Amino acid sequence: MSIREPILRFFGHLLWPSSCSICGAIGVPVCVECLLPLLSPPMPAVLGDFPLETGGIHEGFLRDLILELKYGGDRTLGVSMGRALGRIFPKPSGDVLVPVPLHRDSGRGFNQSKAIAEGLRLEWGILVSDCLEWREERIAQTARKESERRNMPLDAMVVRRKGLAGKRTVLVDDVATTGTTLQRAGIAVKRGGGRVVCAYTWTAVPKGKKWL
Ligand SMILES: [Zn+2]
Repeated sequence: MSIREPILRFFGHLLWPSSCSICGAIGVPVCVECLLPLLSPPMPAVLGDFPLETGGIHEGFLRDLILELKYGGDRTLGVSMGRALGRIFPKPSGDVLVPVPLHRDSGRGFNQSKAIAEGLRLEWGILVSDCLEWREERIAQTARKESERRNMPLDAMVVRRKGLAGKRTVLVDDVATTGTTLQRAGIAVKRGGGRVVCAYTWTAVPKGKKWL
């Protein structure tokens, strides 16, 4: 199958959202089985004191799926993406999956990272705890501008309820751009008494030969 074919089907999917954008199967935005051959995880990166695994480089169809997830508003697409990630990576030794929180002013009704985490939960049987939040909306805005992201305060995020104490935590986000947001999430988890064992993203933006 040429790379054009999934792209054409992807746009067909915009017209007929209840069919798989790759194989045309009715009832799902995309089949987990159709996503698996598209993923090509590079070697894990290290973010401070935990590894980051990603499904592939942030380009082409993998990137299109994130845009469709963010702006198309179909949560089940994110769940399929999470399930695909959960099948290509072995279950980590974690107690809880924690998605990176949504910016409050994003205008979207759901957190795409949480949808991906839900898919991982179905594959791995690890609970999802949506327990992180941005300390201030102003800081959340910083996180959206890549040029400012590295200056994000260390306490950009906080754990909003108890329950992470002693928990081996697995962070989940849709895309890793600079890695700063995930590192700040890691600091919040640590301050909440937990320990990040690893992080997973659907894609990551390459930086030269390395991908973070
Ligand atoms: Zn399919």
